Amino acid sequence: MSASSFYRAKLVERVNFTDDLGMFRFRPEGEFTFKAGQYATLGLEDGGKLIQRPYSIVSSPRENFLEFFIELVPQGELTPKLWELKVSDHVLVRNRIVGAFTRDEKAGMVRHIMAATVTGIAPYVSMIRTQRMDVARGEVAEHQFAVVQGASRSSEFGIYKSELEEIARDGWLHYVTTVSRPWEDPDWKGEAGRVEDVFRKYADNLGFDYSNSVGYACGHPQMIENIKSILARARFPKLQIKEEKYFTIS
Ligand SMILES: Cc1cc2nc3c(=O)[nH]c(=O)nc-3n(C[C@H](O)[C@H](O)[C@H](O)COP(=O)(O)OP(=O)(O)OC[C@H]3O[C@@H](n4cnc5c(N)ncnc54)[C@H](O)[C@@H]3O)c2cc1C
Repeated sequence: MSASSFYRAKLVERVNFTDDLGMFRFRPEGEFTFKAGQYATLGLEDGGKLIQRPYSIVSSPRENFLEFFIELVPQGELTPKLWELKVSDHVLVRNRIVGAFTRDEKAGMVRHIMAATVTGIAPYVSMIRTQRMDVARGEVAEHQFAVVQGASRSSEFGIYKSELEEIARDGWLHYVTTVSRPWEDPDWKGEAGRVEDVFRKYADNLGFDYSNSVGYACGHPQMIENIKSILARARFPKLQIKEEKYFTIS
């Protein structure tokens, strides 16, 4: 991969939610276009070698920065180096942004039921920020979203929980959070259990079904397999199921 396929991008803001989860906002030194839900490739040079990994973009294509929600993998190659970055440091961003995990256009549905583990919320935030901008410009909120996000503890939702709860007041987004270790979170009043445990309940209660919706799952590979089975049992055809796996379990 030649360095000319990459732009430099400056870290302009960083917020640590926990020791191993954070928001990174970059301003690339070049033009980029993408669709909400796609991923960028971030890279850092290390001893003449380029280490690069894909990251779903949190920001809307209409924003003039690229925002990411990243988890530190202590034994990983890239994320420990990303964790050393300070504001004004630079990374490389591949100039082509790609990915098929965008809001459905094939099935033609306007209802979207989405499952995420922690950082898997990233592509949904991009889609939701984009619709919110459309609505603010006077467009009708044609698409309805239901998003269920799971984490071990509530601190892992970071700044996105309050952002999505605020947008949910507009009426076209249902946002549900669930923690799988409620005993470590004594003040937590929301749902308890894994995403899979609460997903079907909200799909049924909110009327997101195979006749009107597309189902999405993003993040941890085991959650994705479980959600795909739940959707298949709820009669969702393959065309109405989308997935974005962040890693594989070996
Ligand atoms: C399309 C796509 C979008 C992605 N978007 C995001 C995103 O928005 N935010 C984000 O944090 N990551 C995202 N990832 C994962 C990211 O690309 C890296 O794999 C991750 O950051 C680890 O990189 P690393 O170089 O530090 O570890 P690696 O050196 O790549 O991995 C070391 C080992 O850890 C395992 N591993 C990787 N990630 C995890 C994890 N989260 N939990 C447990 N084990 C893991 C790997 O399978 C490998 O065995 C995405 C992946 C894909 C394919």
